[in-house]
Amino acid sequence: MDRGLDIVDFHLHFRIGTDETIHACEDAAGMHPGGEHERAVRAAGSAPYAKAWRQAWSFPDPEPPAPRWQDEADRWADELRAVGVRRAVFVTGGGNDTVADVVDRHPDLLLGFAHHDPYSPGAAAELERAVTERGLRGLKLFAPLLRGPLDHADLDPLWSTAQRLGVPVLIHIGHYGSAGGLSFGRYGGPDELARMARRFPELNVVVPHFGVQHVQDLLFAAWGCPNIHVDTSGSNQWVRWMPYKLTLEDLFRRCYETIGPQRIVYGSDSSWFPRGYVTRYLDDQLRVCRELGMPDDHLRTIFAGNAERLLGLTDRPAENPGAGPRAASRPGRK
Ligand SMILES: [Zn+2]
Repeated sequence: MDRGLDIVDFHLHFRIGTDETIHACEDAAGMHPGGEHERAVRAAGSAPYAKAWRQAWSFPDPEPPAPRWQDEADRWADELRAVGVRRAVFVTGGGNDTVADVVDRHPDLLLGFAHHDPYSPGAAAELERAVTERGLRGLKLFAPLLRGPLDHADLDPLWSTAQRLGVPVLIHIGHYGSAGGLSFGRYGGPDELARMARRFPELNVVVPHFGVQHVQDLLFAAWGCPNIHVDTSGSNQWVRWMPYKLTLEDLFRRCYETIGPQRIVYGSDSSWFPRGYVTRYLDDQLRVCRELGMPDDHLRTIFAGNAERLLGLTDRPAENPGAGPRAASRPGRK
């Protein structure tokens, strides 16, 4: 496989049975207000949308994850080598230690993020442990599932810890999940994100999927805060639910012309087999960028360099200047 480009993927999910970490957050956020009955009715009503999406993208039905996480991890390693992706970040994976174990199995290929509840007691200390003792490289959270605001003082120790360690925080804002997902969040809107990012100017904040329906607010937040980045991951099928025409090309063009290539981070959101690595997203995004006439150095920045800078990967020279991680202050990093 030769794309003429080195690829580092900032955004994948490792499936491991039921992810209890994320499930607990979903329940606390009121994602399943009516118990089993409500869940079943909603799932039945949403199934046609999910089926239509899989058909539109020629995706097979998902199969359950391998019973042994080691097998699932090995399958991912084979898959990444087969499709020519050099490094890949699992932003969730059944808890911090679990995802750290997955990464330790293939440290040349895989990286992982902490993804514990930011409002849990000792969340800042847990991030520090996950980074310095387990080698995780960032923090992932879903703002619609938060139990309190992103910019509340209770979370300041968490943000200041991430800032001091020089690790990025990947914060999903907007519609959570796809068909049948959570369209609302009590907390964690784009205003909270912008206020938080402003108070922690050296904290690298990355917002996935171009901010989903908050794309306009995200562009303005990124204008005001040079520490805010966007990640490009997923099918970005949400553009079909906007009340005006919006395409993947529009998203790339707007972000490229305004935010610029140094803060656009490639991701695929790959997560399940037999679909495996979603080369289709990579190929579509790369085609869009090439058709927009981006020079090679900007392509290298978007599809590998920015992720490497944010993750503190030192095995290659930085592609571009910018706020790099304070690697020396991460004693336990692997
Ligand atoms: Zn994701």
